[in-house]
Amino acid sequence: MQIILLGKPGAGKGTQAQRLAQAAGVAHIATGDMFRAAVREGTELGKLAQSYMERGALVPDDVTIGLMRERLAQPDAHKGFVLDGFPRNEAQAQALEALLSDLGRPVQAAVELDVPDEEILRRITGRRVCPRCGATYHVEFQPPKVPGICDRCGHALIQRDDDKEETVRRRLEVYRRHAEELIRFYQARGLYHRLSGLGSEADVLERLIGLLQSLGVWNR
Ligand code: ADP
Ligand code: AMP
Repeated sequence: MQIILLGKPGAGKGTQAQRLAQAAGVAHIATGDMFRAAVREGTELGKLAQSYMERGALVPDDVTIGLMRERLAQPDAHKGFVLDGFPRNEAQAQALEALLSDLGRPVQAAVELDVPDEEILRRITGRRVCPRCGATYHVEFQPPKVPGICDRCGHALIQRDDDKEETVRRRLEVYRRHAEELIRFYQARGLYHRLSGLGSEADVLERLIGLLQSLGVWNR
């Protein structure tokens, strides 16, 4: 299975991609997670990425595409993948198409999780993440068992730097600037599907799997 989740920041791509990839036995590939790991490790890539992420801007395409090229070459990606946060513009979509044609694993569906802005703000401002293992929570909708502590690894949860309201507004603008070209790109290939991202996490997952089944893409 090779699918892409599109959607505004905070729409629930990471939450659904992780569950979907686990259920289907494929890789969950999230460029945002990869950049955050590089920032934590203090690598050159991390330093460069951080200067864009803290402004809510996109990391330059050549860097992001290079990162994706390396990631897709890893053995686990050969079983299939759910992409989350990539591609983010038409140049990345074009590059992905070329990379996947080399691999012989074309995209089967690009699904946009549709969530209105008021709900996006609620989701993003309440988001808490584990800086050690990457698990995502929400103070109200998906709270950890012990407040402020990761269920999975016991580390203290943090709020992402770029989840501050001012940066979120900028990230939403960046999303809007590129959404149309991305949608058009996948529409032209008959791969674009819009799905409501409202309801509980379990509701959205069920809806997503239902769509993938109807497309003949879900093979579990
Ligand atoms: P994205 O990867 O699209 O930026 P996330 O998956 O990190 O979004 O979700 C953003 C926030 O919203 C997180 O705090 C997450 O726990 C919460 N969330 C995700 N899906 C839902 C949902 N269906 N209902 C309520 N909250 C959700
Ligand atoms: P995300 O975790 O997907 O919300 O991404 C967080 C930040 O990482 C974004 O605001 C960008 O600065 C950067 N980023 C993630 N994915 C990409 C991408 N495909 N292209 C450019 N920048 C990205």
